[in-house]
Parts: sequence; C-alpha cells; structure tokens
Amino acid sequence: MFEKILEYQKLDGNLLAFEREVEKDPAKQNLLKAMSLAKDSQSQLILLDETANKAIKEYENCKKEFEKNFTELDKFNKEDLSSFTVEVLNAKLDEINALLSKLASLERTLSFQAENISTIIKNSEHYKKSIILNKQKYNENKEAFEGINKKFAPQIDGIKKQMLEMEKQIDPKILAKYKHLRQDRIFPVFVPLNGNSCGGCSMEIPSALMNKLKENGYLECEQCRRYVYID
Ligand SMILES: [Zn+2]
Repeated sequence: MFEKILEYQKLDGNLLAFEREVEKDPAKQNLLKAMSLAKDSQSQLILLDETANKAIKEYENCKKEFEKNFTELDKFNKEDLSSFTVEVLNAKLDEINALLSKLASLERTLSFQAENISTIIKNSEHYKKSIILNKQKYNENKEAFEGINKKFAPQIDGIKKQMLEMEKQIDPKILAKYKHLRQDRIFPVFVPLNGNSCGGCSMEIPSALMNKLKENGYLECEQCRRYVYID
C-alpha cells in the first residue's frame, strides 16, 4: 500500500539533501549576511537622516535666536549713555548682562549642535560605505552561488521530474497528506512502526490506537503528526 509513497519519499529525501547542500554553501550564507548587513545600514541611514534634519533645524533656529539677541545687544552700543540717569543705566546694564548670558548659552548650544551634526555626517558616511561594500559582497557571492546552483540544477531538476511522474501512481489522498506535512517542514512523513512506538518521535502508541493502526495499515502519530505504517 505504501510502496509508491515510500519510493517517492526516498526521492524527496535525495532532493532535500541536494537542497541542503546548496543552502549551506558559504556563498549562500555570505549572500544572506551581506544582504542583511546592507539592509541594517540602510535602516540606520534613514534614522540618521531624520536625526540630521532635526539637528540642522535646531541649529538654524538657535542661530536665528543668536542673531536676534546680538542685534539687541548692538542697539545698546549705539546709545548715547550720557543722557541716562544712574537708575536707567543700571537697568540697561542688567539687560546687557542678561543678553550676554543668553548669547553665551546659545553659543554653547550652537557648538554642541555643530559637533552633533558632524558626528551624524561621519556615521552616515560609515553606513554609506557599508552599503556599498555589502552590495559588492552580495554581487560577488551571488555569482558564486549561481555557480553552485548550476552545478546541482541537473540533479535537482531530474529528481523533481521523477517525482512528478511518480505522483500519478500515488493515491491522491495519501499524496495530499504527504504534501501537507512537507509544507510544515516535516520529513520523513511516513515512518515505520518501531516495536510499539512511532518510528519518527519514538512515542509509544496506545493499545487502542494500535488496533486502529493494524486495521487501517497506518496511523497519524499524535505527537509528531507523522504517518506510522506497519513495515
Ligand atoms: Zn511520532
């Protein structure tokens, strides 16, 4: 009853082995790594761009504020002090001191933001370089990986063709069950009964189910979902 599907499964196993060979190839791993690093750098660059825009806006606002205060201070320079009373002069002096202190604080903010912007630019350059480097690595490894793919393609295609041909001879219900579990990355799908246990996960099959297994010839394991058959 399971002869065909077991033969089919065996071919599928060979296919899996080839596909694993391709997957574990260093070129493929490097390819994925380069792609992931380039993506990370791209995200960092977008974040930095937002931070840079904010910092530049802040810098410009601060500069405007500085210029406004500086013009204010300049007005005092142009005033004729001889016409003022002492009280007025003292009040003006207070205003001047307040302006000077404000200007000093703004100057500090400006210098901080200038440094901040320069750091952002430096970091952006770093990530831009990383993107270029990883795109280059990606392309190099893509070529190598395509070579590996080409090397295994005839075997893989051959097995796939054989399997497709075989599918016509397999009970559609059994084939559908097989494909359903394979989609969930379960392999092998059909396992022999091993003593009283599932040949996949070794769970002991309850005696009530053993009767069902003997009756139907197969049984879905409650633990690993594989189909246990009597060898
Ligand atoms: Zn099992």
